[in-house]
Amino acid sequence: MSNYQIETKCIQSGWHPKKGEPRVLPIYQSTTFKYDTSDQMGRLFDLEDSGYFYTRLQNPTNDAVAEKICELEGGVAAMLTSSGQAANYYAVFNICEAGDHMICSSTVYGGTFNLFGATLKKQGIECTFIDPDASLEEISQAFRPNTKVLFAETIANPALVVLDIEKFAKSAHDHGVPLIVDNTFATPINCRPFEWGADIVTHSTTKYMDGHAMCVGGCIVDSGNFDWNQYADKFPGLTQPDDTYHGIVYTEKFGKAAYITKATSQIMRDLGSIQSPQNAFLLNVGLETLHLRMPRHCENARKVAEFLNSNEKTAWVNFAGLKDNKYYDLAQKYMPNGTCGVISFGLKGGRKASVEFMDKLKMIAIVTHVADARTCVLHPASHTHRQMTDEQLVEAGVAPDLIRLSVGIENAQDIISDLEQALEDIS
Ligand SMILES: *Cc1c(COP(=O)(O)O)cnc(C)c1O
Repeated sequence: MSNYQIETKCIQSGWHPKKGEPRVLPIYQSTTFKYDTSDQMGRLFDLEDSGYFYTRLQNPTNDAVAEKICELEGGVAAMLTSSGQAANYYAVFNICEAGDHMICSSTVYGGTFNLFGATLKKQGIECTFIDPDASLEEISQAFRPNTKVLFAETIANPALVVLDIEKFAKSAHDHGVPLIVDNTFATPINCRPFEWGADIVTHSTTKYMDGHAMCVGGCIVDSGNFDWNQYADKFPGLTQPDDTYHGIVYTEKFGKAAYITKATSQIMRDLGSIQSPQNAFLLNVGLETLHLRMPRHCENARKVAEFLNSNEKTAWVNFAGLKDNKYYDLAQKYMPNGTCGVISFGLKGGRKASVEFMDKLKMIAIVTHVADARTCVLHPASHTHRQMTDEQLVEAGVAPDLIRLSVGIENAQDIISDLEQALEDIS
């Protein structure tokens, strides 16, 4: 399968029916799987044989979809999770424990910021947040002897900062830790972080991969490139015997699949944030058209960004596809075919005008979501960040007038016309 182009993988990867089996990926709506002898089942529990026994650990529908995403990213193993939050939590918790330290870009998604900065802290894992534009030297200063992970987003939500993946990968590898990249906004259609040195990729599949705002979900993909054994002392969970699995050493027994096998057989077994097979089925339908939808999202977003940029009522427009954008060159390097469909902008009338403008939109809906087929809009200062004062908003990198516009795949002119009539109407 790996020789096919990405468009073919969107359609063909994952489910490979044998003679007489359903052509379309079936929903294995079963918690459990049958065996003929007690010994057969026992060998599964010992990880001696591979096979299904309980959907919390593995399910054929989920596995087929994980395999598709794995092939799209060019990885060696992958697993689905119930949400993007669970994916990022598991990705880090699989190699960090109480007493460890991690480093993360400060502009990551708010949910990720809270997860690493507050919730992991309660579990004894400390996180240092760094400026994604920091130099190699500045990033270096954040490392400690107990640092286990460097984490960032390909395109930050909602700051739209484009990550210099090679710089982050070099920094991580200079210090003997893996780079984990949340590739939700770019998707593997526009950027494959493994090709630039990232070791592990995560996704909120809730966004473009699903693409229709139907199911919350997540995914973790391992490139298989990080050499855990070279830093065996740092990653004892992978390189030392697991007493909860009869002393298995994951790197010895599973080689390049060690990281995902541990995340499945240990973290998922114990914490249980599985994706439902129903949701995995719908996600798979979304993935089949990802390669058609992403170029249209990007093309529409570029047209909308150009329109907003030339409109007299806008104060600023942030979209990495615009030539004067701070991240234009990085975007050209890592995502030459386009970044994503999300734009942020502010109005000259400030916060008050933002609210007025949004209320005047007719087709474009106000929703707490991004990155699906329907154009939608959110004003963080009034919604996701409404408890903050204007001063606190600026500190958090969210301007009080910032409007996040997720451009869908409708006709671009219809989107622009809706924006235009709302802009004309505000004072
Ligand atoms: C939405 C999002 C998440 C969280 O994903 P959920 O599926 O909502 O749990 C994580 N990272 C990024 C970049 C996101 O946009």
